[in-house]
Amino acid sequence: MSGISERNHAFLAEMGLAPLWQRRASALMTHEPIAQAETAAAFDGTGSAWTADPAIMPGMSKAAAMSARTIAQMNWAELNNAVSGCTRCGLCKSRRQTVFGGGDERAKWLFIGNGPSGDDDRQGAIFAGPAGKLLDNMLLTIGLRRGENAYLTTSVKCRPADADGRDRLPTAEESEACLPYLQRQIALIEPTVIVALGKTAALSLLQVDTAEPFSTLRATVHRYAAVPVIVTYDPAHLLRNPADKRKAWADLCLAMTTYAAS
Ligand code: SF4
Repeated sequence: MSGISERNHAFLAEMGLAPLWQRRASALMTHEPIAQAETAAAFDGTGSAWTADPAIMPGMSKAAAMSARTIAQMNWAELNNAVSGCTRCGLCKSRRQTVFGGGDERAKWLFIGNGPSGDDDRQGAIFAGPAGKLLDNMLLTIGLRRGENAYLTTSVKCRPADADGRDRLPTAEESEACLPYLQRQIALIEPTVIVALGKTAALSLLQVDTAEPFSTLRATVHRYAAVPVIVTYDPAHLLRNPADKRKAWADLCLAMTTYAAS
């Protein structure tokens, strides 16, 4: 975890990423390390970090709040079942199937994307298309694999599509409707560090001002309860804008530093 292996260098070179994906020590030194006790407090066995009823959102209707409270008590099987039949937002009408997420249910690393893609929707699998392959490469560079100390999910569990059938970002309302499921996944996993892959995922999780520039959201260690949250680019964005891979690598370095300090 402390460095990039020669194998990864070769892999990145093969993918045409090696000149961009270089660790830059200076980028790591601009952030304060996370106090170990601070993170440990979230998982001290009392569940204290999760008892503020995070599933209840300001302005949520009574019926929705009751539903969110129910979701907050679910186990994995109940949660998966609830998502598969969910009609809490309009995305239920256009989905082929829900995409719950997957990986190591006790992972230290949790990666949260914006929403399922068309490939995900067709296959019923998280990060199933080309963006998923890039994410797999990104995980490899920090010593992770799907299902091995990493869990992948998205801020909404049904694919958002525009009128022409193309992938789009979830709306704030769709993200809010789906948030109780994400919050319950986080509570069940109890990750050490969370990486938000995209602005929508970050805004959903952190409840920050939507006007906040993405450049400000990045390069900062945020908190969800006591858990550090690092924000970086959506792999689909990186496919369209390969020049941003350099910045994404700096974000992953920050995530590794944060994880090590936790
Ligand atoms: S996106 Fe989430 S809240 Fe909306 S229908 Fe799908 S599972 Fe339910």
